[in-house]
Amino acid sequence: MIEFKNSENLNKWSKAQREKHLKIGFVPTMGALHEGHISLIEAAKTENDLVICSIFVNPTQFNEQEDFDKYPITIEKDKDLLFQAGCHVVFIPDVANIYPSSTAFDLEIDLGNIANVLEGAHRPGHFEGVMQVVKRLLEIVEPNVLYLGKKDYQQYLILKKMVSFYQFDIEVKQCPIVREPDGLAMSSRNLRLKPVERNAAVQLSKALFAIQSDQFSSSPKALSEKFTANLNANPLIDVEYLEIVSAESLGKIDDWKDSESAVACIAAKVGSIRLIDNVTIY
Ligand code: AMP
Repeated sequence: MIEFKNSENLNKWSKAQREKHLKIGFVPTMGALHEGHISLIEAAKTENDLVICSIFVNPTQFNEQEDFDKYPITIEKDKDLLFQAGCHVVFIPDVANIYPSSTAFDLEIDLGNIANVLEGAHRPGHFEGVMQVVKRLLEIVEPNVLYLGKKDYQQYLILKKMVSFYQFDIEVKQCPIVREPDGLAMSSRNLRLKPVERNAAVQLSKALFAIQSDQFSSSPKALSEKFTANLNANPLIDVEYLEIVSAESLGKIDDWKDSESAVACIAAKVGSIRLIDNVTIY
């Protein structure tokens, strides 16, 4: 596995591979890798000649300094996992390499509702930072295919639109959520949960799966209110939102008959750790 730290060197390498007509799959990550990330590497490996994974904890997408400061970093373990998964290149830049002059970003796209709800409403500036870093990474890596996890469902919708807005010649693929055996969605932030919080955290996915199986028993609003109250009854859990939305527009669904697709999305703090998850209802 080749390791690049410098964006110009990686860009040169990548261009040379493209000239040889080799197909490149790209998996951007913030490290602290787990089986969820590795599933993206594996998908990229089966569909491309070469796989590039980036590890970069992007400061511009954190709306809370403490969350950034405490983001888990496990670089040596990450490199081992990537090597074992057969990843060809790991790109580990520093902030100056990604943002050589400044971290300021002039966002030219207005994505409307999909960027303003859910995470957009609760983490001001988050998606601007995500678009900024992924645009920059795509310019450096110049992949054929970008692999994203459904775990960050809203992020996937937004980045798909961004790729088409900037007319990148890149296919965007979504990979399913990888879960722990008890159902908790794998997340780098799970590493920061204390044992009692880890036990409580499983309630988030349990609530989403219960909504999925109870879907005909009540309205979307009643279900989200009921499960929000159930979760909040646990002193370790504080729900930021639990919403049932259209899978395409992310508009809130008041009545099942109003939407041809539905996803239940949750963000909640478990102790001091903020987790997100989602389940497709139909
Ligand atoms: P992150 O390192 O959290 O920024 O995630 C990097 C990529 O891995 C994103 O596309 C995530 O959606 C994806 N990802 C994170 N957790 C999971 C998971 N449990 N299952 C599948 N994909 C995931």
